[in-house]
Amino acid sequence: MSQKSLEKQPNRQRGLRTLSPSSDDRLLVEYRMFWRKSETMPAAEPVAAPSINSQPTNEFDRVLDTLGTVLRAYGEYAFDTDRATASDVKDSCSELWREMSLGPSKSSDPEAPSRAKRRDYSKVTRFFDGQRRQEQEFVIRGIGNLRQTVQEFAQCLTAAVAEDRQADKQIEGQLTRLVDAVGGNDLDAVRQEAAKVVSLVRNAIDRRRDREKEQLVHLGAQVQALRSELDAVRTQATLDSLTQLFNRAAFDQEIDKVATLGLLLGSEPCLVMVDVDKFKSINDKHGHPIGDEVLRAVADNLVRHFLRKEDFVCRFGGEEFAIVIRDSAVDKVTARIERARSTLAGTPVRTAAGPIDVTFSAGLTALVPGEAPSQWVERADRALYAAKHQGRNRVIVFPAKDAESSTGE
Ligand code: GH3
Ligand code: MG
Ligand code: MG
Repeated sequence: MSQKSLEKQPNRQRGLRTLSPSSDDRLLVEYRMFWRKSETMPAAEPVAAPSINSQPTNEFDRVLDTLGTVLRAYGEYAFDTDRATASDVKDSCSELWREMSLGPSKSSDPEAPSRAKRRDYSKVTRFFDGQRRQEQEFVIRGIGNLRQTVQEFAQCLTAAVAEDRQADKQIEGQLTRLVDAVGGNDLDAVRQEAAKVVSLVRNAIDRRRDREKEQLVHLGAQVQALRSELDAVRTQATLDSLTQLFNRAAFDQEIDKVATLGLLLGSEPCLVMVDVDKFKSINDKHGHPIGDEVLRAVADNLVRHFLRKEDFVCRFGGEEFAIVIRDSAVDKVTARIERARSTLAGTPVRTAAGPIDVTFSAGLTALVPGEAPSQWVERADRALYAAKHQGRNRVIVFPAKDAESSTGE
């Protein structure tokens, strides 16, 4: 409306002049009903909406009515920003409407007496200008933060899923769509794309976890099978198949180990060499299988007398056996092998061919500090040879001190 047309209608310039008492009353009612009007006046049709007590009487009333509708809608849909709460904005709308409809209050305007009932309409413009600027800054900052967060999220996910190609491709494609959506400022689209990414990643993680579990179970079974196989091979490699005693290869390792470490333990390791007497004649008389039975019976007899875990009993070869005792004095070992000898000699071996008298001869000696394992074995052999030479079925000890003095010579 131009200034000229306003001048032609002086009674419609109430905004610039003192209100008449009747208009004041109507506006006072409207002010008091300000927020309740929204219940009956939809914001979508502000101008056409009916006034609560009467139709606007003139152009100015309609303008004022429309301003009220706008302020009401603005206040109703206000939201919290970092500078003001929705409630603050609503209060400001209410205050602005009060001032536009009733004029400035004395308390809020100390100069009111001189400018009584004059309205400062530019306040409306300043109010909306300020509000929109604040809202714009708030929204732009919020979108900026969201964009940065989503971009970091996308980068992290891209790195995290980089191992699984097929899932990666799907997720990477979805991440690209998410990043595009972030660039477009459409928050609903961002939310939808982010939800799809989360769902894809969750599925990929679940699948990967299941696969890893399966692989672990499979791997565990494989390791177990390999371990059993290895144990079996190792056992086979160290055991004699006929007697189930340790074999010669295991003896070579044991004697090396004991010769090296035995003395460090402060003990006196002993070696006993055992040879079945006249075994050839048993084979000759009863056959090889019966000879095998006799060898097993001799093995059992030795094991029964050298049961401790420190006692190492092996089949040295043929009808010969060797016993390594890590930590026992010579006389104790002598007593034990003597018991084994007398037991066997006193109890005929029961075989398929009937009971057979079996004896063995044994040579025994302790380790001389610093000697090679082969010297130790040779000395035990010499003792065994002496037992054979002296008539068999006996135990002969080769004293270590003799060996030391002969070594010293
Ligand atoms: P000596 O009292 O002097 O030791 O006489 P010997 O007969 O026991 O000794 P000899 O070395 O003359 O004979 C050992 C025999 O042991 C010869 C061999 O055929 C036999 N023999 C070696 N290994 C086995 C085996 O695994 N089973 C059987 N049944 N006989 C074996
Ligand atoms: Mg022999
Ligand atoms: Mg023999």
